[in-house]
Amino acid sequence: MDRIKKKLGFGMMRLPMNGEDIDIEQTKKMVDAFMAAGFNYFDTAHGYINEKSERAVKEALTSRYPREAYVLTDKLSSNYFNKEEDIEPMLDTQLAWCGVSYFDFYLMHAQGRNNYQHYMDCHAYEVAKKMKEKGKIRHIGISFHDSAEFLDKILTEHPEIEIVQLQFNYLDEDDPNVQSLACYKVAEKHGLPVIVMEPVKGGRLAKVSAPVASLFKSLSSASPASFAIRYAASFPNVKMVLSGMSDTSQMEDNIATMKDFVPLNEKEQSVIAKARSYLRTEGLIECTHCEYCEAVCPVKMPIPDIFAALNEERAAGKKIDVSLSEKSAECLACGACESMCPQHLPIRDLLTKANR
Ligand code: SF4
Ligand code: SF4
Repeated sequence: MDRIKKKLGFGMMRLPMNGEDIDIEQTKKMVDAFMAAGFNYFDTAHGYINEKSERAVKEALTSRYPREAYVLTDKLSSNYFNKEEDIEPMLDTQLAWCGVSYFDFYLMHAQGRNNYQHYMDCHAYEVAKKMKEKGKIRHIGISFHDSAEFLDKILTEHPEIEIVQLQFNYLDEDDPNVQSLACYKVAEKHGLPVIVMEPVKGGRLAKVSAPVASLFKSLSSASPASFAIRYAASFPNVKMVLSGMSDTSQMEDNIATMKDFVPLNEKEQSVIAKARSYLRTEGLIECTHCEYCEAVCPVKMPIPDIFAALNEERAAGKKIDVSLSEKSAECLACGACESMCPQHLPIRDLLTKANR
C-alpha cells in the first residue's frame, strides 16, 4: 500500500479504441500524463477489452517505465480456469502479457454467490497464497459484487485477503442489489482497505440529465464526474478510486480532481444526496457497460448497447434502433449473461422489452 502515491487509479478496461483495436499511441500519451501528474496505480484483467488490455499495459506502461515506478493489479477471472492446475499457468500468461515478473495485487475477480464455489473447488485462494510465497504476487485481494452478508462470509473464511475492491458510488450507496455502503462497512470491520470501482457507475454519473447537472453547477464549474469521484474518495478507508478513462479529456478532468484531493464538504454532500434522489426517479437500466454478459453470450448479444438504447428511449424519447430490437429476439433465454452481471439485472426480461 505504501507504494501507492495518490488515490486515483487508471482502470485499463475502457481504453481509447481505433476500430476493434486499442489506440496504443493515445494510451501511451494518457499513461505519460497520468505518471507525470504523480499517479502510479494501474488496474487490468485478462478479459478486459477482448483480452487486449493486458498487452496494452505492456506496450504503454511496463515496457516504458521501471518496475518500481508503478503499482499493477491484475485478477483471476472464473472463466479462465477449470481446475487447480490451470491457475498458475494462467497467472504466468498474465505476467507475460503484462511484461512483468510480479503483480502488486492479484484479485479473485468479481466474487459473489454465482462463482465463489468454483474458486473454492479449485483451491484458488490456496494457490494465490503459494504464488505470493513464490513472489509472483505481492498481495492477495478480491473484487466483489454481492451482498454485505456474503462479503462478511468470504472475509471471515479467508484471512489471507489483504484488500477489497468494491463497486462504490453515490447512486449505489444503499442500492439493495449493490449494497455499497454496507459492504464498505464490512471491509472496515475486517480492518481491510477498499479500492473503489465504478465511482461514476460506467459513465452514468458523468453524463447526468440537465436537472442533476444544474444541481452541481450551483456549487462550482467542476464536472458531475468529479463530484462522484470525490464522493468515493472522501471515505477514510478508501485507499484507491479507479477510473476507466477512455480519452484525454476524462483523464485531465480526473487528474485536476485528484491531484490535490479535497474531501467533499457538508454543502457538497447535501447536493450529492439531492442528485441521488433525482437520479432514482429516472428509472433507467443500471447497466455499467462492463460487457461481462456479452463475453459469455452464445449469440453475442450486444446487451449494453441495447440497454443504452432503451435508456435513451426513456430519457429522450429516441426510438430504439430496429436492428437492435430485432437482434434482441435472437436471445435463447439460457441465462448465462445474468449469472455474470455484477448489477444483477434481469437481462432476459429487459431484452423481451427491447424486442417489443
Ligand atoms: S439469455 Fe440471451 S442474451 Fe443472455 S446469454 Fe443467453 S442468449 Fe445471450
Ligand atoms: S448488463 Fe450487466 S454484465 Fe452486461 S454490460 Fe450491463 S452491467 Fe455489465
